[in-house]
Amino acid sequence: MAEVKILVEGFASGDFSDEEERTRATITLIEDGDIKIVVDPGVLKSQDILISALERNGLSVNDIDIVCITHSHINHYRNIGMFPEAKTLEFYGLWDKESVEDWNENFSEDIKIIKTPGHDKSSISLLVKTKNGSVAVVGDLFWKENYPEKDPYADSPEKLEESRNKILEISDWIIPGHGKIFKVKK
Ligand SMILES: [Zn+2]
Repeated sequence: MAEVKILVEGFASGDFSDEEERTRATITLIEDGDIKIVVDPGVLKSQDILISALERNGLSVNDIDIVCITHSHINHYRNIGMFPEAKTLEFYGLWDKESVEDWNENFSEDIKIIKTPGHDKSSISLLVKTKNGSVAVVGDLFWKENYPEKDPYADSPEKLEESRNKILEISDWIIPGHGKIFKVKK
């Protein structure tokens, strides 16, 4: 069974009405046997925040094998360069520096890659089998628990709805793009 942990909890613009607009993606760590994946290293006030979060888990940037980008919005991928040796997993393929190969939907025994278009046409989610059930790491399919009801930036509101329903059906827990993990109500 794989393990999933939030390294840095995100927030959405609008969470701090008294401040300038700012945003932070939720950054997630997936450990599947020897494979260590960081999802959406995002934007941060300081990269030290992520470095310290990795350290608390006994890891450094060089221990990360794969950086997954749920979709190509800069607030989800700005810090990808922190992991120069890691491969990059995104909608179009698995990149190793300048080479790219197709990924398999069954990425490993415990990790599935699911195309979840809607917020953006090239959005993916990772569905991870853990001892606590299936955890879906979904980027901006949800920004937070059941939020927003209507995504003002959705590329396709219809596809978003379809993708949300699909994920709600197959997961027990959801890690959204800009908030805490939440339990799926069945
Ligand atoms: Zn986005």
